[in-house]
Amino acid sequence: MIIMNADATQEQIAEVIKEIKKYGLRADLSKGAFRTVIGLVGDERKIDFAHFATLPGVKEAIGIETPYKLISREYSKRSGEESECRVVKVGDIDIGGDEPVFIAGPCAVESKAQLFRIAEGVKKAGAHILRGGIFKPRSSVHSFQGLGSIGEQEAEEALSWLREAGDKFELTVITEVRGEAQVDLVAKYADILQIGTRNMYNQDLLTMVARTNKPVLFKRHFGAGIEEFLSFAEYIAAEGNKDIILCERGVLPLGKGRSYTRYTLDLAAIPTIQEETFLPVVADPSHATGRRDLIFSMSCAAMAAGANGLMIETHYDPKEALVDGQQTITIGELRDIISSCRKIHKVITMRKNKN
Ligand code: PEP
Ligand code: MN
Repeated sequence: MIIMNADATQEQIAEVIKEIKKYGLRADLSKGAFRTVIGLVGDERKIDFAHFATLPGVKEAIGIETPYKLISREYSKRSGEESECRVVKVGDIDIGGDEPVFIAGPCAVESKAQLFRIAEGVKKAGAHILRGGIFKPRSSVHSFQGLGSIGEQEAEEALSWLREAGDKFELTVITEVRGEAQVDLVAKYADILQIGTRNMYNQDLLTMVARTNKPVLFKRHFGAGIEEFLSFAEYIAAEGNKDIILCERGVLPLGKGRSYTRYTLDLAAIPTIQEETFLPVVADPSHATGRRDLIFSMSCAAMAAGANGLMIETHYDPKEALVDGQQTITIGELRDIISSCRKIHKVITMRKNKN
């Protein structure tokens, strides 16, 4: 990390970047309120920091060992770029701002009529963002893979419904990108690109998605520790895209035999991650529990833990859903959750502001 003097000139900053490139590394420029900080992307071991410290305009040159430095709180603090939380702006929605953000919709998009009816419902219930899987990651090749897997035409048609529904009901839209071949197509229609739990480690996909410059909702792998999760989020940041929304969606449950929940919502991960990074964190109680009866309590708990938002699978009639009906809530339940979570968020924010 190269910390420039507050009055460093553009030429001096350009000189430092040129020098970094000579070592075969890339530079991440963070222009904050106080000063410019330049992060190094790549293997820092060959860097002579003492040499960098002597360059004109440089205040300090230090090596950082953590695998996620570009998204670390330390990095942002040095430049004064981020205060409490990065606000990811999508249209007129602020993710990580003063208000919690609610993402809702079906697990999978099944038809235009289904999507539009759900979109209207979740909008009325107070949600900001419409979700709907078109390329579904499934454990069995024999189950419904999403309309996107039928063919190119079906994929584009379903994506266009998502866009239309978003425009009609004034909702921002998000959908998952399951593979590299889908990146351009999904980016053409969606406002936010979702990386699913199974793709957390797919660094080529992360790089490609990051390069679209669209915000990315990045889900934690169900077996990944926090350091691993953040290390892979760094792949997105390394492309100069820091519009990353981290999503806690449950980790593998413990024990032999029957498991009572699909995964275990790692509540403590929420404030822990917020301490480590300046990125907003949302929770997905739907996949974390796999149980409709637990969505209200886990939503409230995630909010109390400081989540910046929630992603919840919602349907006008969960029994009808082709995928994940058992964990999908009704529009009415969503309305209750949103109203309770807004109150919890207020209490948490008041307490934070006091401290
Ligand atoms: C989803 O949100 O549609 C999904 C498949 O979730 P996850 O990747 O967390 O399993
Ligand atoms: Mn699902």
